[in-house]
Amino acid sequence: MEPTVNTPLPLPAEPAQGPAARPAIIRFEAVAKSYPARRGQAPVPALADISLDVPEGAILGVIGRSGAGKSTLIRLVNGLEKPTSGQVMVDGVDIGALGAADLRDARRSIGMIFQHFNLLARRTAFQNVALPLEIAGLPAREIKTRVEPLLELVGLADKRDRYPAELSGGQKQRVGIARALATRPRVLLSDEATSALDPETTNQILALLRKVNAELNLTVLLITHEMAVIKAVADRVAVIEGGRIVEEGATYTVFARPQHATTRSFLSALTGQSLPPQVADRLRPEPEPGCAAVIRIVFTGAHATDPVLSRVSRLLSVDLNILQAQVDDISGKPFGVIVVSAPGDAPTLAAVTSAVARLGLSAEVLGYV
Ligand code: ADP
Repeated sequence: MEPTVNTPLPLPAEPAQGPAARPAIIRFEAVAKSYPARRGQAPVPALADISLDVPEGAILGVIGRSGAGKSTLIRLVNGLEKPTSGQVMVDGVDIGALGAADLRDARRSIGMIFQHFNLLARRTAFQNVALPLEIAGLPAREIKTRVEPLLELVGLADKRDRYPAELSGGQKQRVGIARALATRPRVLLSDEATSALDPETTNQILALLRKVNAELNLTVLLITHEMAVIKAVADRVAVIEGGRIVEEGATYTVFARPQHATTRSFLSALTGQSLPPQVADRLRPEPEPGCAAVIRIVFTGAHATDPVLSRVSRLLSVDLNILQAQVDDISGKPFGVIVVSAPGDAPTLAAVTSAVARLGLSAEVLGYV
């Protein structure tokens, strides 16, 4: 078949093992949520037809623009909101059906961290982390034996007696994480937890989330508006728009083969994903005699560092010019995107794209220049 613009080749299937194969610890079953109407106005629809599984031990990131429904989605998990229809199950419990006392119990297994940390200003780091345990009625000695290792885990043992005002943003979020872990939850909800932090601190906090995910087998559901956060930390990603999930899958697969325009636009904000302007401005959808084709080749997994381009050009005696190249790391796995130009005549183009496909990579003809 002759390759045409935006006719991608199939990606290798997602591995059967890994987070997606594990049972869901959080499950949205056909969930809709609207907020009650103000007088004389229609109810505000916030979520519609949400079905989503968060596998145990996974880090799942929900990305969407402001107003897409992210906060509503996360607040349904800890019962701060109740669904209008459908069910939100956490560890087999229908959260929306719980009464106040049962909900308080269920929340002990659901920790949460926030964009603005939500620490109590008049309590030290230690006292903030201790708070949920005091509320749960634990004796002081036990509180101490729980809080100290948590402060150690988040790298704040030496700041235990500092007040929030004496801590940096990253340190405050570390306290927030330790506090969220105090009741030994099975699930951690993160509501834009790095949005108020600079990029370097963001990376440190995301690394800490990965660490607690791995060391405590803690499932993490995070919401964000930044693809860089998803890329750094999430095993799986769900893209939400207008209260609906428009795309969901393993982060790696979604990055390699985004299906929805919203996903593509989030990805284009990352370096290496958008075309250089001098190419983008000249790109045409149809070939013309003597033109060059612009091809995006995605290198994943074991192939990410293979010398594929030199192999293809040697095999076919075709010159491939690199227009843009980036090798990255997504959830610890190598991921490369290379944009090349090749002769745009149909037979050469078909030979190049099928040679790339035979090497197990995906190639997409973006257009012609
Ligand atoms: P996001 O977190 O992605 O910005 P939200 O979940 O906060 O999105 O909001 C989704 C939609 O629901 C928006 O249209 C918002 O205005 C509306 N909404 C959110 N909270 C309330 C509320 N308490 N009352 C009425 N409407 C709300």
